[in-house]
Amino acid sequence: MSIKSRIRTIPHYPREGIMFRDITTLLKDPVGLRITIDEIAERYRAEKIDKVVGIESRGFIFAAPVAYALGAGFVPIRKQGKLPAETISCDYQLEYGYDKIEIHADAIDKDDRVLMIDDLIATGGTMEAAIKLVQEMGGKIIECCFVIDLPGVGGSTRLRQQDHPLYSLCSFD
Ligand code: 5GP
Repeated sequence: MSIKSRIRTIPHYPREGIMFRDITTLLKDPVGLRITIDEIAERYRAEKIDKVVGIESRGFIFAAPVAYALGAGFVPIRKQGKLPAETISCDYQLEYGYDKIEIHADAIDKDDRVLMIDDLIATGGTMEAAIKLVQEMGGKIIECCFVIDLPGVGGSTRLRQQDHPLYSLCSFD
C-alpha cells in the first residue's frame, strides 16, 4: 500500500467544490507514518541539512521527525501573532484577501542549509512566502518538499519556473 493510497479525499470540504486531501488516514497508519518520514529523510540524508522548516500546521507533523532523523534543527513558520519572540513576516495572497506568516528573527543563521516542508502545495502562495522569509535571513534552501502536489492548480510549476527546487511524494490530478 502506497503513501498516496493512504490519503483520504473528502469531497466538498471545507467548501462546496473542494476535494480536500486528508492526511490523517496516512498519519494514523503506523506503516504509513514511518514510510513517509523515512522517504523524506532518506532523500536528504547526504545533504548536510542544518534546519528543517515546517509550515503551520500540518507541515510541523512531517518537519519535526525529519529534522530529528537528519540530526538537524526544526524551525516553525507560523500564522501571524503566534510566535513569542521578535519575528520577520511576509504577506501572501489567498483566494480572497491576504494572510501573513512569520518566523523568529533568530531562527535561521546565514548560510544555513535549509529543507522546507509542508503537507501540500496548491497555488504555492504559502511556500513562496516561506521561501522569501528564509532567503531574507540568508538561508540556503536545498529543496521544498511536499507530501502532496496538486499540479492542476499550478503552484509547483510556478515555483519551479522561479528556480526553486521542489519535490513531492505523490500528486493528485
Ligand atoms: P497553497 O498556498 O499552495 O495554495 O496552499 C497550501 C496550503 O494549504 C498548505 O499549507 C496546506 O496545508 C493547505 N491545504 C490546501 N488544500 C489542502 C488539502 O486539500 N489538503 C491538505 N491536507 N492541506 C491543504
